[in-house]
Amino acid sequence: MKLRKISAAASAAVVLALTATACGSGSDSGSNGDKINIGIKFDQPGMGLKTPDGTYTGFDVDVARYVAKELGYPEDKINWKQAPSAERENMIKNGDVKYIVGTYSITEKRLKEVDFAGPYFVAHQDLLVRADDNSITKVEDLNSKKLCSVAGSTSAQNVRDKLAPKADLRQLGGYSECLTGLENKSVDALTTDATILAGYAAQKEHQGKFKLAGLSLSDEKYGIGLKKGDADLKGKINKALEKMISDGTWDKLVKQHFGPSGYKNDPAPKIAG
Ligand code: GLU
Repeated sequence: MKLRKISAAASAAVVLALTATACGSGSDSGSNGDKINIGIKFDQPGMGLKTPDGTYTGFDVDVARYVAKELGYPEDKINWKQAPSAERENMIKNGDVKYIVGTYSITEKRLKEVDFAGPYFVAHQDLLVRADDNSITKVEDLNSKKLCSVAGSTSAQNVRDKLAPKADLRQLGGYSECLTGLENKSVDALTTDATILAGYAAQKEHQGKFKLAGLSLSDEKYGIGLKKGDADLKGKINKALEKMISDGTWDKLVKQHFGPSGYKNDPAPKIAG
């Protein structure tokens, strides 16, 4: 009997070890040996983008880099991981990543599961439509339209709860999938933060195809998501963010990443501490 118990425990340990390996993180702390795992978006030009040559660019990516450096991790010690909107809380809770910088709004609901450093940026929800479509100019127009957004985002939630509850809302895995739908006319509009929409509209291959409605449908305070209760990490990241704003890096990054899209940003918010 005793023996059987031991072997059950031993095989459970093997299963656990295998699971940890399969996840690829090797630990539940968001680091991997001497490397740090950081979650970003891979398909949002201007914010978080993995380019075909395998480099990572965007405002959020550079914020993530700055913070990593302050924590003692230079570029060659960073593992970038894709963090789709609907998976962010789980990735943090599972320890797949140490933190996420991915157009990640601080909300009461998310604060029940994770903590946030910041806010480091304030964005607003808007609509993207085809350039030749003049039938959508205000949010009520969406109630008779096919609208696309992303599962697990505040953008989709806001539409369902208040902005246009009668819209025919499709929720996909990423905003770039919605953009394909907008282009091939399977949807009439795409809604999310204007930061993201302006990035798509400004891409070379999209020029002249889309336009933003220019609405400010919500306030989205972007935070850096991290494990709930990790006050030490939150304090260190907040310090890094304060430094990034006071040493002029924040302004430089805003110009660099929003200049090309013409996105008019709000001033830097106060770090909550
Ligand atoms: N900022 C919003 C959110 O956190 C929309 C953008 C996104 O899905 O990343 O849900």
